[in-house]
Amino acid sequence: MNIDLSGKVALVTGASRGIGRETGILLAKAGASVVINYVRNAEKAEGVKNEIINDGGEAEIFQADVSVPEDVKSLFDFIRDKYKRLDILVNNAGIIKDNLLMSMKLSEWDRVIDTTLKGAFLCTQQASEMMMAGRSGKIINVSSVGAIRGGRGQTNYASAKGGIMSFTKACAVELAPKGIQANAVLPGMIVTDMSTRVRKRAGDKILERIPAERFGEPRDIAQLIVFLASDQADYITGQAISVDGGMSIS
Ligand code: NAP
Repeated sequence: MNIDLSGKVALVTGASRGIGRETGILLAKAGASVVINYVRNAEKAEGVKNEIINDGGEAEIFQADVSVPEDVKSLFDFIRDKYKRLDILVNNAGIIKDNLLMSMKLSEWDRVIDTTLKGAFLCTQQASEMMMAGRSGKIINVSSVGAIRGGRGQTNYASAKGGIMSFTKACAVELAPKGIQANAVLPGMIVTDMSTRVRKRAGDKILERIPAERFGEPRDIAQLIVFLASDQADYITGQAISVDGGMSIS
């Protein structure tokens, strides 16, 4: 099956590192022009852009904190000015601030919910307006197996990622008649900066719970996202798909 995203414009939030980085690169390889969003790591975002351009693709970088409405507006103003369209939105930006329920600070709760859930809401609202104009579009939200399994010290993260799943379904119902599909991807334990600490602390124990007997790579997630962003996935909407080597069913 040949996935061709030529002529499409994609935005990947949190694409300077990890899953977002790989997603941006694979979307560009499939022919899309890709906007690489980041919040702090300009150098890394520039590196992703250069890798795409050196490979013959098209990319731009844009700094924006997805939890800040003014930043999100600037990001979408940039996309409107430069491309006049948006075909693919990947709500990937996310953070962890783990703490036990009884010790969790309100700031830790707010930061995680705001980045993941409010960020996805703000970006999806802006993107939907542009997609509705063209009566087509793909929205892919990065949730987590943490949404369905829970996790010690992750009441904030599990709530944000569970919220993203429900948000995806509600968006899918509203947007399907407009030709826009929304789906959620639930990664398991993926080798990125985010999971470094927990893999170091409890890697062996976690591996025992993964039937595939390995951690995931960013590419495992990015490949599904590219498929969901393609015309081949036009009849798939409102779904939450785990990519976790069987972690969530073991
Ligand atoms: P990562 O390596 O820590 O990268 C996070 C990315 O998000 C970076 O590009 C970062 O930008 C960006 N970011 C953070 N806060 C942001 C904000 N407020 N506005 C815009 N961008 C922001 O994380 P990852 O492991 O690739 O995770 C990507 C997504 O997958 C997250 O939603 C995460 O929850 C989810 N996930 C990951 C795993 C895993 O095992 N890794 C498992 C399940 C789900 P800067 O570089 O500028 O800081």
